[in-house]
Amino acid sequence: MPIPPNMPGATARYRFDVVVVGGGIAGLSAAVHARELGASVVLLEKAPVTGRGGNTRFADAQMRFPHEADEYGVRDYTVDAMYADLMRISRGRANPDLIRTLCENARAGAEWLTGLGLEWEKGYPHTAGYRRSPKSGGAGVVDLLHRRFEGLGGTVSYETGAIDLIVDEARTVTGVRAHSPEGVVDIEATGGVVLACGGFQANVQMRVQHLGRYADSLILRGSRYNTGEGLRMAIDAGAQPAGQWGDYHSAVLDARSPKIECGVTALYNYQMGIFVDQDGRRFLDEGEDFRDHTYVKFSKHIVEQAGGEAWCIFDQQAYQREEFARAWRPVGAPFEAGSMKELAQLIGVPAENLLDTVGSFNAAVQPGEYDLDRLDGKRTEGIVPAKSNWALPLDRPPYIAIPVTGGITFTFGGLKCDTRARVMDTRGQVMEGLYAAGETMGEIFYYNYPGASSVIRGCVFGRIAAGDAAERAAGGGVR
Ligand SMILES: Cc1cc2nc3c(=O)[nH]c(=O)nc-3n(C[C@H](O)[C@H](O)[C@H](O)COP(=O)(O)OP(=O)(O)OC[C@H]3O[C@@H](n4cnc5c(N)ncnc54)[C@H](O)[C@@H]3O)c2cc1C
Repeated sequence: MPIPPNMPGATARYRFDVVVVGGGIAGLSAAVHARELGASVVLLEKAPVTGRGGNTRFADAQMRFPHEADEYGVRDYTVDAMYADLMRISRGRANPDLIRTLCENARAGAEWLTGLGLEWEKGYPHTAGYRRSPKSGGAGVVDLLHRRFEGLGGTVSYETGAIDLIVDEARTVTGVRAHSPEGVVDIEATGGVVLACGGFQANVQMRVQHLGRYADSLILRGSRYNTGEGLRMAIDAGAQPAGQWGDYHSAVLDARSPKIECGVTALYNYQMGIFVDQDGRRFLDEGEDFRDHTYVKFSKHIVEQAGGEAWCIFDQQAYQREEFARAWRPVGAPFEAGSMKELAQLIGVPAENLLDTVGSFNAAVQPGEYDLDRLDGKRTEGIVPAKSNWALPLDRPPYIAIPVTGGITFTFGGLKCDTRARVMDTRGQVMEGLYAAGETMGEIFYYNYPGASSVIRGCVFGRIAAGDAAERAAGGGVR
């Protein structure tokens, strides 16, 4: 339960203007920006220094934000187009005010990162051309923001996990209690506490409670430290849960990936081949849409409907393409055989089924121009499931098989917030002194995920939370 101020039980008590819980993109953006605004800031990082940075550290940290077309193949992307994409992919369920705020502030967030020294790769073809990749990946973003924060005189407390909120008689959040290397400590926040400590993806009990029985064995792609304390302590203090608590972000992973903190081991090239289950049968439309709009739901389909593990099958026409290697970071060598029959034997799938599946698939492929940069309409006809785009016959040996499964990246359920990142209580009223940003904020993603949107939302709402909390501190904690 939330603790009142001046409760015994802590070995020490500290005071800052802004207390940031968590040091991924959301927490670091909040911490750096609050320091830029002149607030005193402590960032609590549950991980040791070597494990800092949350999911952000494991990500490529690609970001989508509105921008003009460039000569490297990135196309024009407007605020309205981004808004439409995010709303469409959530099937209209995302909070329109939060999404509008995200889209309107995403470019400023990316430019702020650039101003802090972030360097970007040039262009990013084959994914509808709107995303940008930091050269140094997420780990580089984390290191950069830590350098800036420390350069601005911010304080970081490692191995310090927040365990509870401190709440006064007026129900204002005035600080946090945390486990730290010096014992239990209370840290007062005169401006506000920013919860930026991720979702509950690393907590197997919460996963099964909220995501269902398939969720216990999912490969955890990112940080082991995101175990849901931020959500739990806010809800215990009266915060309103919001968003899709029963769903999560995932990806189609090489099934040989490490079970925890595996990082980027996803296959993003499946649209160049076909999926088959352990019986050698296709089970979904691999070319339904750009991979950015399908990898999350395909991953869940494999886990929940296709027996947990499946195979992605390619021929040399796909395997030799330059884009193939770019969209796959091998965990192990692919399985390879000179004929489909041998491949089936090698991977333990009934050969007659695989031959039948590939034979019918090849016969169903329609003529047309193959173009990975657009929904090319090169499809199959007369088979179920169809392949709606990028359908080429698999007829150039040697054939390749990669085992695939689903993993979990982050959870969609979070806290109800307004557009200033202020947490709302179950009466729909603002909880003074409490903010949420990044994965801890709810109502952004539903069912599926528009690629390259999570890091940028952490940056945007981290900065917004910092602005409000710093202003609140400057006003003496009241407004
Ligand atoms: C392999 C992989 C690839 C990805 N690729 C992309 C991509 O290209 N683009 C994109 O937009 N998104 C991507 N994502 C998702 C994205 O990285 C995350 O959703 C985003 O970075 C989350 O940022 P965050 O700040 O909310 O949380 P995190 O980065 O997870 O940070 C949470 C922080 O809170 C700390 N913490 C947890 N509990 C406590 C506590 N009780 N007290 C104190 N600290 C605590 C953690 O240690 C961590 O520092 C990817 C994720 C993974 C794992």
